[in-house]
Amino acid sequence: MEFYDVHTHQIFLEENDDPYHSCIFDVYPLEFEVAKESYNRHAFSCGIHPWYSEDSDTQMAYLNEIAPNPRIIAIGETGLDRLKGPSFEIQIPVFKKHIELSEKLRKPVIIHCVKAWEELIRVRRETHPTQPWIIHGYRGKPELTEQLLREGFLFSVGDQINVDSMQLIPLDAIFCETDEDEMSIREVYQQAARSLNMEIETFASHIAENVRRIFPTLEPPKPFYPDQEEESD
Ligand SMILES: [Zn+2]
Repeated sequence: MEFYDVHTHQIFLEENDDPYHSCIFDVYPLEFEVAKESYNRHAFSCGIHPWYSEDSDTQMAYLNEIAPNPRIIAIGETGLDRLKGPSFEIQIPVFKKHIELSEKLRKPVIIHCVKAWEELIRVRRETHPTQPWIIHGYRGKPELTEQLLREGFLFSVGDQINVDSMQLIPLDAIFCETDEDEMSIREVYQQAARSLNMEIETFASHIAENVRRIFPTLEPPKPFYPDQEEESD
């Protein structure tokens, strides 16, 4: 089994890091230089969070400079948040700059969206992206899930899931993540697989396929065999 965590902010010292999973670490543009030296095994997503999108011109200019780096395999997290951060008049243009960059560099977008689904769909229809858009931390209700599926979104799920929505999402549209949560990536996989009445091995092989398709350059982790856990040194 291979575990992939497509969105996390939890940076471990590499020598203490779990070798049985590969991550996409989310970093701010200004953090990337240091992070890329400290972590050889994992890849990065880089962007400006909607909460901090005010006065972000300098960060945005810097993001444009570093984003072509092959270790940055996704743009974001970016997106829209109705509850926190500046007004949509500020958030939407910053979000759109990320989309432009994603299209230019052909790198997928990791999306943060809180209570702004209508606006998110509107931006997608306006921009006609060719790159995958992955909504992270997804736990929306079934009706919303069906709507987002029709619009072509992909989903990343973490510790809180909506079981009824899980049943609706095709297996080729799901990823897993730990974000800032306490649950480990193995527990996230376990919970998601259980919600689908599926063996974790089967679920994990679908996720691995999705990762190979959407993030072909993300290095695979050491495969994990539950029976051999005790024996490994
Ligand atoms: Zn996050």
